[in-house]
Amino acid sequence: MTAVDEKPLTLHSLALNETPYPPLDSVRKAIADSISELHLYPQFYADGLMEFIARWRGVTTESVVVGSGSVGVALQTLQAFTDGPQDEVVYGWRAFDAYPIITDMAGAGRIEVPLTRDGEQDLDRILGAVTDRTRVVILCNPHNPTGTAVEAAALEKFLDALPPHVLVLLDEAYMEFAGDAVLPQGIDLLKAGRDRLVVLRTFSKAYGLAGLRIGYGLTTPGTARRIRTMSVPYSITETARTAVVASVGAEAELNERIAALTAERTRMQAALRGLGWRVLESRANFLWLDEPERCAAFHRACAGAGVQVRLYPGEGIRLTIGTPDANDLVLRSARGL
Ligand code: PMP
Repeated sequence: MTAVDEKPLTLHSLALNETPYPPLDSVRKAIADSISELHLYPQFYADGLMEFIARWRGVTTESVVVGSGSVGVALQTLQAFTDGPQDEVVYGWRAFDAYPIITDMAGAGRIEVPLTRDGEQDLDRILGAVTDRTRVVILCNPHNPTGTAVEAAALEKFLDALPPHVLVLLDEAYMEFAGDAVLPQGIDLLKAGRDRLVVLRTFSKAYGLAGLRIGYGLTTPGTARRIRTMSVPYSITETARTAVVASVGAEAELNERIAALTAERTRMQAALRGLGWRVLESRANFLWLDEPERCAAFHRACAGAGVQVRLYPGEGIRLTIGTPDANDLVLRSARGL
């Protein structure tokens, strides 16, 4: 019997780049303890969380911003730094689906620069698209949905070449999964004095708190002040703050999970390639199957096996790395298509 013939009992979501692991016991306990305070408002602007993140990351509190997921911080940044459709936001496309959405929400103009044939952000073409009207360039490292990475030298060269009126939003949502690859860390660039940079990080992926909606940005105090003018009062819950503190306290356990997922990524990449699928090298917790012709059939076969993967019709599949069992279901679905 093939995977497609089986009646799946479980539905595995390998479509949204979430971690397949439920919250750690220590995190659950912290969340449960916070429930008794839910009749009270959290802090107006989450100062306690910003102070905590600043101490943990070794930066000043003035240079930290927090928001409703890192997508919330990204939206606030675009709202703060653009002022109408004449102000442009430039990014490689395809990318994270929210980039056009938040650019539209901010009322700015979108400039979408095609990826290279290898699924990389085309830094030269992005530079070529920058004009006097450009306010923000969004770079995603590692990139969603292709998993490709921008290396240190290329990033430095790119930042050096940008005119000073442009702010770079460096989205590092998947950086924890980069593994042995030594990728440039935005926080180091900031510490080295780069001052037209907002580094976005999230607790949704490696930290496993997607449901609590919490992300942060690191930047200069001046830029942080401007981004905070777009913060929604009371929007970061005390439960979320507590869960962040507990998760950072459990980093050793989380690192084991990250290691397990990156090992599975390696296994899945090799196995899928062995089955004849074109799979890009990935530094994130997902793989990009560059298969315009066969992606719809792949998506159908996975769905039949109880696994949701993300279909980009006519382009490919983005496959989030799940538990070994879920990954095995994908492999069985991928055979013989
Ligand atoms: N950036 C990228 C590149 C993403 O893929 C995602 C989630 N899919 C996010 C940001 C959003 O994360 P958050 O849950 O922190 O809003």
